[in-house]
Amino acid sequence: MIKAPKDADARRAVKPVICYPVETLPAPNLDLYQSARKGAVKVSEVLAAPREAACFRASAGQFFRISSVEGPQVGDLNLWNANDLSERFYSGKSRALHGTHLTTGERMWSSFPQLRPMATIIADTLDWYGIDEFGGSVHDVIGTRCDPYTHNLLSGGQYHHCCHSNLTRALAVELGISTAEAEPHVHDVLNVFMCTGFTRDTGQYFMKSSPVRVGDYLEFFAEIDLLGALSACPGGDCSSEHSSDGAACYPLLIEVFEPAAGALEGWQSPALSGYCGTHG
Ligand SMILES: [Zn+2]
Repeated sequence: MIKAPKDADARRAVKPVICYPVETLPAPNLDLYQSARKGAVKVSEVLAAPREAACFRASAGQFFRISSVEGPQVGDLNLWNANDLSERFYSGKSRALHGTHLTTGERMWSSFPQLRPMATIIADTLDWYGIDEFGGSVHDVIGTRCDPYTHNLLSGGQYHHCCHSNLTRALAVELGISTAEAEPHVHDVLNVFMCTGFTRDTGQYFMKSSPVRVGDYLEFFAEIDLLGALSACPGGDCSSEHSSDGAACYPLLIEVFEPAAGALEGWQSPALSGYCGTHG
């Protein structure tokens, strides 16, 4: 360990600066979305079985809701532009813009070069949770997704129901392609209902038993045509372990709703990034 310099305390005492002040971030019209949601009717639903994933589609201007239906369960969510899979959820930039965990009014942003809102959270029944004494909160964009490669690295063995594999299989079935073709499209997730943080002493990623209960939901407005995939994580409520069949695991329900005609008057699907793309 290097010996600390004489002014170490002074250097540590420098106040942080927010990297991305959000004052200039285009704000969603939540009032419009929430009033349009009131008159919306359900057009489809699908259940992600325990330790499996399910795909769903929501057109621009529709809503989708993810619900806990049988027991405490976390879900790993991937989103793609339904018309161009190269545009997909960008967990890192969403984290940089909104912080470690997402809630009502915050957005799932897409990758470069599009960088636009894919979905806006309009309701979160766990928004009361806030940040607990361990630094934990709900719906994170700091984790990745449980995967068989890291599992093999740390524990050996072959486990096929990590979220990464579940999402890969579900996408392959949805698109009628092989798992080898589907796998490169799977990306870092929004960890729906998962309660996570970083330990203060070692900075390690931690998880703890999710506060989600049957009936809780997270609801989104689809800003563009979306193909989504949701995995019911083998970790269940993620109170102890993942990447095994050891935890109690429950399904997650995804429902899609269509607003009444004219209910979104004034709303437009977000444009592509305004950057010219030449890189100078
Ligand atoms: Zn998982």
